[in-house]
This record gives sequence, C-alpha cells and structure tokens, in this order.
Amino acid sequence: MGILDGKKVKFEILEELKKKVELLDRKPGLAVIQIGEDPASCVYVKNKNKMADNLGYIFNHIKLSEDVNEEEVLSIISNLNNDDNIDGILVQMPVPKHLNPKVIQEAIDPFKDVDGLNSVNMGKLAHDTNCLIPCTPMGIVDLLKYYNIPISGKNVTIIGRSDLVGKPLASLMTNNNATVTLCHSKTSNLKDFTLLADILVVAVGVPNLITKDYVKEGSVVIDVGINRLDNGKICGDVDFDSVKDKVSYITPVPGGVGQMTVAELGLNTYKAYILRK
Ligand code: NAD
Repeated sequence: MGILDGKKVKFEILEELKKKVELLDRKPGLAVIQIGEDPASCVYVKNKNKMADNLGYIFNHIKLSEDVNEEEVLSIISNLNNDDNIDGILVQMPVPKHLNPKVIQEAIDPFKDVDGLNSVNMGKLAHDTNCLIPCTPMGIVDLLKYYNIPISGKNVTIIGRSDLVGKPLASLMTNNNATVTLCHSKTSNLKDFTLLADILVVAVGVPNLITKDYVKEGSVVIDVGINRLDNGKICGDVDFDSVKDKVSYITPVPGGVGQMTVAELGLNTYKAYILRK
C-alpha cells in the first residue's frame, strides 16, 4: 500500500508557484470573507493565510460578525469585485443559517471566484472549458496525476454529491475520461458501486463509513472526509486500518486531500490573476 502524501505534493506545488509569482509585476491579492467564529473555519482561514503569505500574495481577511445581513455581505463582495488589487475572492463556508450561500456565491465575479462555486464556473466545468475549478476536486486530480495514477478509462466511484466536492469532481473525472458513478445518501446498495471502483472517492462526513468490504483489491482510495472525534482526533470517512492492506494507494487524514485543497487555492488565485490580465 502506498500513501498519497498531500503534504509533500502541496509543498512542491507551492515552491514551483512561488517562482512564477516572483515574476509578476504586482502581487496577486486574495480576499477571504469569514462570517462568525466557527472554530473549524478559523483553522481553515489561518491555513489559507499562511499559504498566501508564503507565496507573497496580499491576503485580505475580512471578518464579519455572525449577525451580518445579506445586503452588507453583498456590498463587500461588490467592492472586492471592483478592486483591481484583488484577484481572488472566497467566502468561507458554512455561512450562518440566515444567509443563503448560493446568493453569496453568485455575487462573486466569476473571474475572481477562486472557490469555483458560482454557476458560471460550474457550467464551464461541465462544458470542459477553461475556468476556475473548485479546489478540493482539482486537488484530488492533481494528487493522482503526481503519482502517475491513470484516470482515463478507469471506474471512478464518488460518494457524496455536494456542490463543493462530489458534483464538480464528477465533471472533472468525466473530463479526464473516467467512467463515473456518483453515489449519495439515497443510493441503495452502496457496496455494489464501491466494489466496482478502481478509484473510490469518499466525501461524506461520516467517520469510518468505508471498511475493507467496500473496497476492491488493489484500488485507489481517496478520503476527503474531515471529522473531529469526541477525543479531539481528526479522522476521515474511511477506516484506514481496515482498508490499508487491500488497496494500492490511499490518502491519509490529515495530510492528504486537505493539504491539496490549500495548494489549489494558491494555484487558482494565480490563475485568476492571469485570466484577468
Ligand atoms: P455535505 O454534507 O455537503 O455532503 C455530504 C454528502 O454525503 C451528501 O451528498 C450526502 O448525500 C452524502 N451522504 C451522507 N450520508 C451518506 C451515506 N450514509 N452514504 C452515502 N452518501 C451519504 O459534505 P461536503 O461539504 O461534501 O463534505 C464532506 C466531507 O468532506 C466532510 O467531512 C467535510 O469536512 C470534508 N471536506 C473536506 C475537504 C478537504 O479539503 N479535505 C473539503 C471539503 C469537504
């Protein structure tokens, strides 16, 4: 069994990117809007800030109170859309219940939408045209490519159909010539589909959902889940110890897909800079 080391690949991607950023005539700018004090969001934003500082980006962290209204959020986004020094804008999800995440995502200029979550980018991804692609799906594909794991012609089963991971990944894998099955909470006989997978991607949010009886011998398992257990430990959706001797490659949690997601945000901000030139 081989480990798909997201931390190592992230480091290499960002070192390479740093060299390209040094050649630009102005520093790329990334704005992150954080609403409220969700502890997981605070950690994610801190990691994004660290990545941006390391690359020499301008990092504009806009912290808003939990009770901010939609109008105020949209007005801040509109100002950022019109700010020539800002190339990438993202709103840290989840947002408080009184706000509609879709309305917020749609308000971001598609050329600055570094999360790739507005309809323009989602549509372009489905059409396989150049666009900003959501970071986690892109990170998964780049991780597989780094380890020379073929995607074309393979059976890829994805569990989870969120806008953030499952749906865009299904498009991206299709664009890479995989045969894709997208499973979700209403899928009957999940095992029938997971056992077909040459590459199994699990993005559900249920600790240890996938055990060895769900995976095909020699397959590649990508664990997207990030779950915090009562004892404070972080684990994925896959029971690592149960499946590790049956698979050819697996991502660890932490140290796998989450690391790649951060690297892809760095890449997307650079791409947004280039697209806007
Ligand atoms: P979500 O809650 O939006 O979606 C979960 C999906 O899982 C849904 O489509 C649902 O239908 C499906 N599902 C739920 N229970 C199921 C079951 N028993 N069997 C089959 N399908 C089931 O989640 P999300 O935003 O896609 O996140 C999923 C997990 O991935 C979470 O743990 C989240 O923290 C993590 N995540 C990690 C990264 C990363 O960078 N590593 C990025 C995004 C999300």
